[in-house]
Amino acid sequence: MHTWLRFWLGESCRLCKVDLLPKESGICVGCSGLLPFAWLDEGLLLASEDQAESQNVRVRSWLVFSEKNAVRHLIHRIKYKSDRPLAVDLGRAMGRDLGSLSGISIPEIWIPVPLHPKRLRQRGYNQSEALAQGLQSVLGGRVESRILKRDKHSESQTKNSRNARSNNVAHAFSCKPGILLDPNIRIAVVDDVITTGSTLKACCSALQAAGFTNVQAWTLGCSGWL
Ligand SMILES: [Zn+2]
Repeated sequence: MHTWLRFWLGESCRLCKVDLLPKESGICVGCSGLLPFAWLDEGLLLASEDQAESQNVRVRSWLVFSEKNAVRHLIHRIKYKSDRPLAVDLGRAMGRDLGSLSGISIPEIWIPVPLHPKRLRQRGYNQSEALAQGLQSVLGGRVESRILKRDKHSESQTKNSRNARSNNVAHAFSCKPGILLDPNIRIAVVDDVITTGSTLKACCSALQAAGFTNVQAWTLGCSGWL
């Protein structure tokens, strides 16, 4: 939606509820300045029983997620309140910040972590896809939502223990066969938050098993596994 249209419709800051100015979107300048930035750039080891060798992917996260901070509120809005405009805004802001870091390899393809069709119907949209669209609008490339698919419907991650989550998603994703893409193309898997890392490991492993050699992960928030 156009910025001015959102202004005239009376959009307010998702955190402090103040009316937003035309140049602001999603969060006001004051709240944006108080966000707990992570600037995480770490390796995530992909080690599993069925891989001959452990592999490493870079994980880039923008904000620190905790059960009590503002990031939890933002992620709750985009996941459970269908706030798609906010998800796109956050993707744009993340893209501007992380993309400006030196040494960052900007992805050519953004792949959102897929939702199972049943959950997609419940939620109405995939929040990771909206984040990816925000990233793409700032950093270029394209969003590909059909390469990776979720093969089984796992229970909500928040209800499970750490080990249960890991086992639950280890083989939950696969690549569609017959994809005609350069295997060296720069791919980023996009998710809202990394907690145990098990979901992103499973996604990146599926892409690497399909022959893609240049896979990284970008997430809005990070917690837990650090
Ligand atoms: Zn605010």
